[in-house]
Amino acid sequence: MIKKFISRVFGRGAKQVAHESKPVVYGPDKHHIRKDHISRGARKTCEELQRAGHTAFVVGGAVRDLILGMQPEDFDVATSAHPDEVRSLFRRSRIIGRRFQIVHVMWGAETVEVSTYRAHFTVKAPESEDERDRQDAHGRVLSDNVFGTQAEDAVRRDFTVNALFYDPVKEEVWDYRHGVKDLVARKLVMIGDAATRYREDPVRMLRAARLSAKLGLAIEPGTAAPIRELKHLLENVPQARLFEEILKMLLSGNAVACVQRLRELELHHGLLPLLDDALEDPATGPFAMSALKATDDRLREGKPVSPAFLLAALLWGRVERRWHELEDKGQPSTPSLHSAMHDALDAQRESLAVPRRFDATMKELWLLQPRFLQRGGTRPFRLLEHPRFRAAYDFFELRAKAGNAPLETAEWWERFQFAPGEERERMLHADDGPKKKKRRRRGGRRRAEEGASPEEIAPGADEE
Ligand code: ATP
Ligand code: MG
Repeated sequence: MIKKFISRVFGRGAKQVAHESKPVVYGPDKHHIRKDHISRGARKTCEELQRAGHTAFVVGGAVRDLILGMQPEDFDVATSAHPDEVRSLFRRSRIIGRRFQIVHVMWGAETVEVSTYRAHFTVKAPESEDERDRQDAHGRVLSDNVFGTQAEDAVRRDFTVNALFYDPVKEEVWDYRHGVKDLVARKLVMIGDAATRYREDPVRMLRAARLSAKLGLAIEPGTAAPIRELKHLLENVPQARLFEEILKMLLSGNAVACVQRLRELELHHGLLPLLDDALEDPATGPFAMSALKATDDRLREGKPVSPAFLLAALLWGRVERRWHELEDKGQPSTPSLHSAMHDALDAQRESLAVPRRFDATMKELWLLQPRFLQRGGTRPFRLLEHPRFRAAYDFFELRAKAGNAPLETAEWWERFQFAPGEERERMLHADDGPKKKKRRRRGGRRRAEEGASPEEIAPGADEE
């Protein structure tokens, strides 16, 4: 339906052919984006810049999303004005960035990112010291702060559908790279030679997977083909950037579709052990997948999601496997679980480091899992009062539904937490759990079925 709509609206104007330096311009009668679809801050930023004699457009993902009838996450502005010129026009603004300078313009709670048109930095074997500084040994561009024309700014973007400009004053869409045509055809096409563009920035391979999943676009064969041979280049990308992109995928609301695309492109294998391991383990793979699905569902319903919860779910397979291995070697259960958690986090850090800010919450969720198996005495009441009960219960319930924990126990907890006092008493099982020790002996001989006491679990984990 969207396809029909877009082709009806844009089809009439598409007779012109975009030249590399001359765009096809779609007037307000040729498309359905109106200036009030644009955030107030982005609109006022463009108006102000244009009043000062510069050109200024909303650019990139926002234009693409609006054409597809989707709500953009943010509105970026591209302009002919240099960063210091932008800075001097807006009282509440600041220049940020070292690699390339952009200006943040603040309007109330909204921050608009304004970037000056930049030229595409062509990658060839570096001949000068200056060029060597700007790319690494694999052709990855390290610095591209070269100002350029608007046409050049279109070319340096990754996909044709991301190279669209919208002028909120004249209500025109400017298209240098046939982005509209590709949106109509529901194709994700790399600008320029795909292999070269992946070498410049290997993260574009992950963006291809994420954007095609998010937008429901097919990756054009020429854009998909080089990925298989170049995926190893992701190893050269700084961990923090890689993690940020993976988190974007997981929290995009299309995590399941993203993972599917990663698999099709063979990008998950080896390179992203977090997903690789999590999804392929027969014991916990279905649980990891249902955690991804639950995250997508929650985002669709506008509910908050916790990255730490999802990461804990993706790593649970490793933790559980290691935990049981250690128990089978005769180690007591709780210390085994502690060791297994540390081992899993350490192993993960060797491939793709999960930032430490998530550790406390993940550990808490894991440590609380065995406590759901204890249904006697005062233990269930103590668990109910735990500040992380809700998240830990959701985790346990998801495990149960995916066959990774007893379903009957999850159902019991579902009833128990909402039951009135006297019914709760009736529901309690015989207290056959291990007795609470007054003091912990050296080496900790308690079994995990007894579970960690609340004191062992840091409250108020510093999750972001
Ligand atoms: P979304 O916001 O939905 O995640 P997006 O395409 O807007 O997707 P951003 O990271 O917000 O992604 O980037 C804004 C724009 O900057 C993109 O539309 C694209 O034009 C350009 N861009 C982003 N990352 C790259 C890249 N790695 N290489 C080239 N251009 C890029
Ligand atoms: Mg964006």
